[in-house]
Amino acid sequence: MIEVSQKCIGCGKCVPVCPFAAIQMMEKKAVINEACTLCGACVQICPVEAINIVREESVLKDFSNYKGVWVFVELSEPEDKASAHRAAPAGKPQAEAVIEGARKIKPVTFELLSAGRKLADELGQELCAVVLTDKNRAYEKELGALDADKMYLVENPEFFEYNTDIFSTAITALVNRHKPAVMLYPATIQGRDLAPRVAAALYVGLTADCTGLAIKDGLLLQSRPAFGGNIMADILSPNSRPQMATVRPNVMKISDPVYGKTAVLLREEIKIDKTLRRVKVLERKITREPGALKISDAKIVVSGGRGMKTKEKFKTLEELARLLGGMVGASRAAVDLGFKEKTRQVGQSGTTVSPSIYLAFGISGAVQHIVGMKSSDVIVAINKDPGASIFNVATYGIVGDAHEILPKLIEALKRKG
Ligand SMILES: Cc1cc2nc3c(=O)[nH]c(=O)nc-3n(C[C@H](O)[C@H](O)[C@H](O)COP(=O)(O)OP(=O)(O)OC[C@H]3O[C@@H](n4cnc5c(N)ncnc54)[C@H](O)[C@@H]3O)c2cc1C
Repeated sequence: MIEVSQKCIGCGKCVPVCPFAAIQMMEKKAVINEACTLCGACVQICPVEAINIVREESVLKDFSNYKGVWVFVELSEPEDKASAHRAAPAGKPQAEAVIEGARKIKPVTFELLSAGRKLADELGQELCAVVLTDKNRAYEKELGALDADKMYLVENPEFFEYNTDIFSTAITALVNRHKPAVMLYPATIQGRDLAPRVAAALYVGLTADCTGLAIKDGLLLQSRPAFGGNIMADILSPNSRPQMATVRPNVMKISDPVYGKTAVLLREEIKIDKTLRRVKVLERKITREPGALKISDAKIVVSGGRGMKTKEKFKTLEELARLLGGMVGASRAAVDLGFKEKTRQVGQSGTTVSPSIYLAFGISGAVQHIVGMKSSDVIVAINKDPGASIFNVATYGIVGDAHEILPKLIEALKRKG
């Protein structure tokens, strides 16, 4: 709330500094209207300190009954029925074959569980996976192998595919019932749709696209790039529960699974009204070739940047990638120059990758690029500038001309056969 006190002398200095034209002079007194955004420009200019922003003191609430770290389990969408039917193995009932061929736990869930385990241990609380599905397919075994203590399961035919209204209603109800301290979602199309809806329903905060998670003084410390990636922001949500974050695929490392360990299965009943479903999926079209590898799944990525100079020279990377059995990636500069298509851009506004080997040719190592590849197992950087930032994250660095090194590398690999 903003107030103008009796101290106002009607000098009018506040009127021109207001970027929202929210101040008028009436009877020699400043009057602020509803266009005010509380930006504070008028407070600073006022020579007699007559304008004050009165902020409500946030009341310290007791959150001691909120416990546990929850991970939303993302399942693959049901496959196109026509192709699934064609693929049904001989002797299997068609309907069952369709179900079995679909709804797998997506790898990003395992990444979140691995990160969530560390948070839960730090808090001394349980790690719980939340599964909304039309049919349980012993998910508790896979989730238990990644050290989930419990699996909350809601089975309902309405969960046969993702739907914003249906899923957010169920998650909101579960959260209100069990009160987790932390809830993590994948920053996928599904997670990015679901998490804000749940946050709005629960009236809690949400930190999107986190690249780091930790516990600080009992609170979830959420790190993410801010201001176009020029700084890393550390965000805490002390005044609401659960503390919610989305995390991009390929950012967190998956821990080694311990097979044989099963999460305790807790079946939950949630009343789902069919009329909640406002969107009906009529047709699903897969735009990429079925079975084609995505750069996010590649085990070896050979990336190039502006230092590759031309589209022709950039193409040499294709040969190296072919010899190594990998895929070609690119910096945003290389994409902007038309060297490679946008789907291959690695980084903050592209794809996050986490291959076994990441090779970077002529890439400077801007923070927006680094956030998209830093969790690769081995990073090899080739740059002619010894001071290039990419060397700060590289496992191996070669200072030299990419155009001299690349043909030699290709030659050596060809000789090896
Ligand atoms: C909001 C926002 C989002 C962004 N998102 C992304 C993103 O997703 N991904 C991304 O990559 N960038 C992103 N950027 C852009 C980023 O800031 C950098 O501009 C970009 O990564 C630079 O690409 P580069 O390293 O190829 O080019 P440059 O920074 O120009 O670096 C070229 C490098 O090549 C080296 N070099 C030149 N010639 C040779 C040679 N012959 N041999 C060896 N080395 C050579 C140079 O020494 C230099 O280090 C984003 C920026 C913003 C503001």
